[in-house]
Amino acid sequence: GATIGILGGGQLGRMLSVAASRLGFKTCIFEPNGDCPASHVANYHFKASYDDEAALKSFAAAVDVVTYEFENVPTSALDLIESIVPIRPNRRTLAVSQDRMSEKAFLSELGLMVAPYGAVEDAESLAAAIAQVGTPAILKTRRFGYDGKGQSRLMSPNDATQALADMAGADAVLEGFVDFSHEISVIAARGQAGDISCYDPGENVHLNGILHTTTVPARLTPAQRTDAVLIAAKILNALDYVGVMGVELFVTKEGLIVNEIAPRVHNSGHWTQNGCTIDQFEQHIRAVVGWPLGDGTRHSNVEMLNLIGDDVDRIADFAKGGSAGIHLYGKADVKAGRKMGHINTITGAA
Ligand code: ATP
Ligand code: MG
Ligand code: MG
Repeated sequence: GATIGILGGGQLGRMLSVAASRLGFKTCIFEPNGDCPASHVANYHFKASYDDEAALKSFAAAVDVVTYEFENVPTSALDLIESIVPIRPNRRTLAVSQDRMSEKAFLSELGLMVAPYGAVEDAESLAAAIAQVGTPAILKTRRFGYDGKGQSRLMSPNDATQALADMAGADAVLEGFVDFSHEISVIAARGQAGDISCYDPGENVHLNGILHTTTVPARLTPAQRTDAVLIAAKILNALDYVGVMGVELFVTKEGLIVNEIAPRVHNSGHWTQNGCTIDQFEQHIRAVVGWPLGDGTRHSNVEMLNLIGDDVDRIADFAKGGSAGIHLYGKADVKAGRKMGHINTITGAA
């Protein structure tokens, strides 16, 4: 059987490895940290950093295709890997989504709605961006932000100095505050033949900047549900994408606004593990190895609850009902704000 290389060894890499293994593939992770969630289940682990050219070369030579759960792989490492083995999803997608400015420009050019935005490097460009998008607004680092990290809210232009200081010199983007009723995401997959399968949109609630719950079905009209899926499909087609992507959307009176895209399996798609026959992890593996996509139809209503930090100490309570799908990531240290696992509770038949 083929061996699948995975860049990144976190919980997403772990669940991708399990899915790949179930389909008869071997997995090989590339991850600098030794005791990482994926290292407990992958067949091979290159424990090296992204500037170790020799390690990157032997990793690439040991696998048949490379995918990733970690989007911030340096360009030099990607160049080296791609000279030896294909990377799926493709490089262009990574380039577009690694930087919030290029991501927003790409989405706007596709004719999709995004929050009003402007580039910020210094006090002058921040003042210009405030004049353009108004307040309230959110200043976000262009790169490396996740779980709401690297963000600062401006309730009025008076908050400009503090917000700029919060960026610690990093290039940023100012986004106008979107007046949404709720947030949803579409987990979409595209195969190598260009076939697309979208999971039913999930409704997302965040707590302290971190995803707290995803509920399916989301509160959407039939027209909004169709829009959400069409938006996701348009993005995947435009990128000639192969694999699973998470597309985060704000629901507003004016329509669906794209918040951001994640070119990988997504936390808000974890419900598919217990709500569908083919979950997002299997779907992603199928796409990257060139298999036909599986049927993403939802058979159950599900609420996915993230276990953050010491939530995980209450696992026995969560397990009591007997019908909750329990997914723990095997992380040794419990830390505040750390994703330790999740629980999928079936709330009814679809
Ligand atoms: P993730 O962990 O999803 O990658 P992130 O750090 O990249 O998160 P965003 O998704 O950009 O951050 O923002 C986190 C949350 O902050 C959003 O889910 C939403 O609740 C809120 N938010 C972000 N941008 C806006 C906006 N322009 N208007 C209103 N709320 C926003
Ligand atoms: Mg993000
Ligand atoms: Mg987000």
